[in-house]
Parts: sequence; C-alpha cells; structure tokens
Amino acid sequence: MKRFLALAVPPLLALTGCAAFTDESVGLDNGVQVAAAFYPLQYVADRVAGGHAEVENLTAPGGEPHDLELNPKETADVAQADLVVFQRGFQPAVDDAVDENAAGAVLDVTDVVDLVPFRDHGVDSDEDDPHFWQDPLLLADVGDAVAARLVKVDPDNADDYTANAADLRTDLEQLDRDYAAGLTDCQRDTVVVSHDAFGYLQKYGITMAAILGLSPDSEPTPADLAELQDLIKKDGITTVFSETLASPESADSLARDMGVDSLVLDPIEGLTDATADDDYLSLMRANLAALEEANGC
Ligand SMILES: [Zn+2]
Repeated sequence: MKRFLALAVPPLLALTGCAAFTDESVGLDNGVQVAAAFYPLQYVADRVAGGHAEVENLTAPGGEPHDLELNPKETADVAQADLVVFQRGFQPAVDDAVDENAAGAVLDVTDVVDLVPFRDHGVDSDEDDPHFWQDPLLLADVGDAVAARLVKVDPDNADDYTANAADLRTDLEQLDRDYAAGLTDCQRDTVVVSHDAFGYLQKYGITMAAILGLSPDSEPTPADLAELQDLIKKDGITTVFSETLASPESADSLARDMGVDSLVLDPIEGLTDATADDDYLSLMRANLAALEEANGC
C-alpha cells in the first residue's frame, strides 16, 4: 500500500507537460497559465513563455480550428487563464468565451497584425484572410505582443520573456529570408491549393488558386473545377496541393483528372498524429521545399 502511494503521488516539481490547468499548475515555478486559441498561437506562447507558464491549446490536436466548439473544460481554461491569446473573428466560440469568461489579460492578435482582406489575394470576399501565420514576420509581431503581456502578468521573469521573443523573431526572420530566396526565379508562380489558407505567401511572388474557397469544409462547384482545370493546363502546373486537416478528396481527384501530382501543403492550423513531432518552423520549411519542387524554383 505504501509503495502504491509513493508511485501515485509524484513530487510536485515533476509535474510538467500539457495537462489541463486544473490543480496541476502547482508544479510550475509560478503557476502562470496561458490559453492559446489554436496551434500557431500556442507555438508562439510556448516559445515566449519558455517554461515559465503552462500553455493550453484550446483547439485539440487533429481538430480543425475553423469550426471549433469549446467544451466545458476549455471554457474553464479561458476563465482561469492569466493570459488568453486568440484571434477575434476566426473562431466565434472562442470570441464568446473570452467575452463572457476571461478574467485575466487578453491578447487579440488582430490588434497586433493587420489582417489582409481576401480581396487583396484575388478572392471574391469581403472578409479578412485569417491565416496570417503563413507570414513569419507577422507571427514575430505576435511574439513581441505576447512577451509584453507576460511581462505585465509575471514581472519576475520579464527579462526571459523579452529575450525569448527576440530569439523567436530571429528564427522567424531567417524563415522569411529563406522563403523569399527559395521562391525567387521559379519556372511557375501559380499554386493550386485545397482551401484559401495561403494568401499571405503571395508576398513571395506566388499566386494561389483554391479548390474549396475560404473554408476547408465547402464543396467546389463544377464551374470552379473547370476554371482550375483550364488554369492547370495554361500554366503547366505540375502539382495540386491538399492539406493535412481537410479531406484530400477534391484535391486528389482534380490531380488525377489532370494527370498531375498530388502533394500535401500544411496550412499549419494544427498538428495531427502525422505531424506530432513537427513544429511551426519545421512545417513551414517542409511547405517551402514542396512549393520549390512544384514550381521549379
Ligand atoms: Zn483555414
């Protein structure tokens, strides 16, 4: 019996990892709790917190952040967090939970990042493109803003938060330079993707054509598909990209019909079982390699 108890009650300092906030934050050095709405925001919060805070992702791994619903535990995470990092307008359930329950600091990343209207990416919509994390420099700005909030929440570790955000910025600026260099001098500049998650990559001189439009769960019309088929022929496109969290069916069948390759481009909206060992940086680099190959860069 004694032996059982010794195993069942680990020392406080051994409590780490991404367990729920409830009762388990006692193992951290100061118990700072951050709720991040979806993976790229979690990545930034983790990098900036650097072990001084417990970061919860409100979008479970493998989940699609576009149609997120919050369960009671996740709503409690929002209520208990010292800092909530979210993107207003992207996940209505999170917006509601923040408005109704958040008691700590709140960072709405749309206050930091100027979202680009879809229209500026050539898409017929009045909405803003939420997928800003495809531009590493915009994500670096979010890192600085997370650091500024954490400095206020936990001034004892201010120097670490500021230094961690600077390290993150260094990595993201290098990634931005690698994208710019990698996508220069390509044989083609059009990329056919599954849903419209890659508009921010157009700063590197590529043009996106989306099969599904704005949301991964919409359906392409026959007219949309005919237009894409014309484009694939006209531009000599070699590859149709599907993505990790959405069904590859539309992309795969278009690729099959046109006799071109079908590859995966990850919008990095969340990690999956297949990408559990990856992170934002490694996935962005894998995307860059796939784009270079498809476009003959
Ligand atoms: Zn999306």
